Amino acid sequence: MDKKKITNMEVKKKNRNDVFRYICRNGMVSNPDISYALKISLPTATQITKELIERGLVEEKGEMESTGGRRAKALAVSENAGKAVGLDITKNHISLVLTELTGKILKYERIFLPYAAGDDYYREVNQKVECFLEDGGCSKEHVLGIGISFPGIIDLDKELVADSHVLGVNDLPFSAVSRFFSYPCHFLNDANAGAYAEGTQSEHIDRFFYLSLSNTVGGAVYSNERLEQGRNFRCGEVGHMTIVPDGRACYCGKNGCLDAYCAAKCLTDGRVEDFFEQLTQEEEEAACLWEQYTSYLALAVNNIHMVLDCDVVLGGYVGSSMGEFIRDIRDKVSQRNTFSEDGSFIRACSHKIGAAALGASLKVIELFMEQV
Ligand SMILES: [Zn+2]
Repeated sequence: MDKKKITNMEVKKKNRNDVFRYICRNGMVSNPDISYALKISLPTATQITKELIERGLVEEKGEMESTGGRRAKALAVSENAGKAVGLDITKNHISLVLTELTGKILKYERIFLPYAAGDDYYREVNQKVECFLEDGGCSKEHVLGIGISFPGIIDLDKELVADSHVLGVNDLPFSAVSRFFSYPCHFLNDANAGAYAEGTQSEHIDRFFYLSLSNTVGGAVYSNERLEQGRNFRCGEVGHMTIVPDGRACYCGKNGCLDAYCAAKCLTDGRVEDFFEQLTQEEEEAACLWEQYTSYLALAVNNIHMVLDCDVVLGGYVGSSMGEFIRDIRDKVSQRNTFSEDGSFIRACSHKIGAAALGASLKVIELFMEQV
């Protein structure tokens, strides 16, 4: 077997990436902290942080609390090291998020802007991005890039939005979108972006399925800090999994897809939060719709769980707003489950608003960290 030779340069780069990522994720840290956590020698840690300070990516922020002996220097990511923008494009809105390297959200905005094919739309989106950055006091040179989330299949090999039924988009090259923005653009599927936000900002999760329940239904498999893509970049597209043979018409042109039964609009044409308020007030119509909705959803969740045997995270408008009503889904799934599981593997997403936009911005940050 040919084993790839790792060069000294590659080891140094990996150590530098790891140290920078550790500082970004852990706030105020010291060289001994880094050395201990990453299992590298103290002189190596000190040398790397010195280099990161010289490059303006890390700053000294005084001294750490004494733990006995000499106080260690406190190190943190520099405020000027860069920020990332996340843009989530949906049928009727765009969501924007500005994120710092630590992953902290600095600003979030959701704007009504119906999608329209053509240059005018992207010109307007670009204007909204620029206003958003100006309002957030973020200067252009600090923007590392924009992560753009689309409700569709993102083909990273051919570099195009292969298919978005919702937006009526086919084979849209990334370059036809990115040319309207002044920053490097990175493209993601919306459910993948939501899963990425969930995975990179939650602790103790190495693998889960993210089920996005919004105007459309999508999904993503997150495993060991990576998103599974699949051969055609369609991994996790459970919205078009058949759950009722020859059932309701789906917008994709087929019948009986999960999307036709579990999209947010199956519950309400209005705000999903209002629907759950009606459910709390025990309104009959809402209760009836929820009963039907959860029956189909439980079927899908049980099937997903049987294939993957991992946590299932419910996201999107419905997952974000259902609160305590998640128990109804857990109950129905455990009734279906062959192995008498209690349904606790079903969880609500931790990011209630702007998960896709946040995930898209975090992707930009990750790409930046990889090349430090
Ligand atoms: Zn379908």
